[in-house]
Amino acid sequence: MTAAPTLPGTVTVRVPAKVNLQLHVGALRPDGYHDLATVFQAVSLHDEVSVARWDGWQVVPAGTYADGIPTDEDNLAVRAAKLVAERCGVDESLSIRIDKDIPVAGGMAGGSADAAAALLACDQLWALGLDRDELAEMAAVLGSDVTFPLSGGTAMATGRGEQLAPVLARGTFHWVFAISDEGLSTPAVYAELDRMREESGESVAEPQVRPDLMAALRQGDAAALGNALHNDLEPAAFSLRPDLRELRDAGVEFGALGGIVSGSGPTVAFVTESHEAALDLSVSLAAADLCRDLRRAKGPVHGAQVVAGPRD
Ligand code: ATP
Repeated sequence: MTAAPTLPGTVTVRVPAKVNLQLHVGALRPDGYHDLATVFQAVSLHDEVSVARWDGWQVVPAGTYADGIPTDEDNLAVRAAKLVAERCGVDESLSIRIDKDIPVAGGMAGGSADAAAALLACDQLWALGLDRDELAEMAAVLGSDVTFPLSGGTAMATGRGEQLAPVLARGTFHWVFAISDEGLSTPAVYAELDRMREESGESVAEPQVRPDLMAALRQGDAAALGNALHNDLEPAAFSLRPDLRELRDAGVEFGALGGIVSGSGPTVAFVTESHEAALDLSVSLAAADLCRDLRRAKGPVHGAQVVAGPRD
């Protein structure tokens, strides 16, 4: 990651990516949303969001995946900062630098993580003293995945994904993430799932996290976790990107305890039994040349944290 910016009074927040350990998707609701039941785990791939007072709004992209960062008002970090300003009556504009180490449009909720980081950074910069509930309320306004990165760890989410409850998880899990060249659009993957379900005529069950996952997490059992990984969006992601199935199967063949499309993809997440096993798997997958990039990470890790400023 590149060095932090040097604008005076800068506040920097570090925020993790997430992987969905199970993602159960309910039927399409009349309002166009789906009810979800999912378990998120925060993993050690981080973005850093730095805010400083500036004459006008600007986004400064940096880091491994700088190229994919939108620099206009659609950037979720800008939307988050503007929401805090509006809610708290602050009449200032900001320079927002995003050091991006979370793949963009990769199903790891990088944009949502940046929004969560911006909420916390603005709270510090403007010395607002917002409590966790106030931050979580604003996070839910910005998007259903924005609340989780504030707390991190391992958590179950229901509703549209914004109602969170912590989950007991022992130990540390070792992940390998296989990152694709091109992103997958989340709405396109949900639309494909709805299309496939309509075509097959299957009835859609109430979304519910299965007890096998909770037991694996409670016991810190990586092999059981590998077996319990599940994503209802995976068949839709495979339908749009058949190469992802090949990638998932290759990882499992090379020794992963389990492999799964992360969220709406296209990142494929593999759980392994140790740090060394994660290294071995990365080497095998790199040699097979099936993806753009491979990243190792551990989880769970804590949520968004202020790492610098404003008086540093
Ligand atoms: P999710 O898992 O939450 O559906 P994702 O991980 O697949 O999301 P993101 O990296 O969050 O994808 O990006 C999704 C889209 O959001 C991108 O195509 C991008 O245009 C937009 N976006 C807005 N703000 C950001 C940001 N700060 N970083 C990355 N993408 C952003």
